[in-house]
Amino acid sequence: MRKIAVYPGTFDPITHGHSDIVRRATQLFDRVIIAVSENTHKNPAFDFKERIALAAEVLADNKRAQVKGFSNLLVDFAREQNADTIIRGLRAVSDLEYEFQLASMNRKLSPNIETIFLMPDEQYTYLSSSIVRQVAALKGDISGFVHPSVFIALTGKHR
Ligand code: ADP
Repeated sequence: MRKIAVYPGTFDPITHGHSDIVRRATQLFDRVIIAVSENTHKNPAFDFKERIALAAEVLADNKRAQVKGFSNLLVDFAREQNADTIIRGLRAVSDLEYEFQLASMNRKLSPNIETIFLMPDEQYTYLSSSIVRQVAALKGDISGFVHPSVFIALTGKHR
């Protein structure tokens, strides 16, 4: 049986931290669906289509990774994709409270879907999309944190 996982998030935009988690997940699963969320309370800098397009470009070389957008309940989306695992990244203890809440709710909604947490390489533990956006807005060099396509998209936004 093929093991399929979904890795949901806002990906606003995708960073090397996200890509590191995808790389690890695709070593464990036959297919990993990077699920870009349309509904977000975060008021994203990149719109839904841009977030999907950037993630697809960044992950194009990883044959086991596939990028899809979703706007329904995550556990419903996972079921539609025949996935029984949700992947989330854990950077620091500060992530834990929110992630614990999310995983507990998803378990209540769908007891058959398991959430698995993966840790990124140490160099990415401080990295977030929001910090990358802030540094880019102030014209700081973000080239070491994101793929060249994301670098171009971000610098284009703050010309
Ligand atoms: P969300 O709005 O759902 O938190 P994000 O795009 O911010 O969406 O993050 C998606 C997932 O990726 C979350 O589990 C988050 O903890 C994880 N993540 C984000 N940045 C990193 C990083 N640098 N290293 C590891 N995991 C990360």
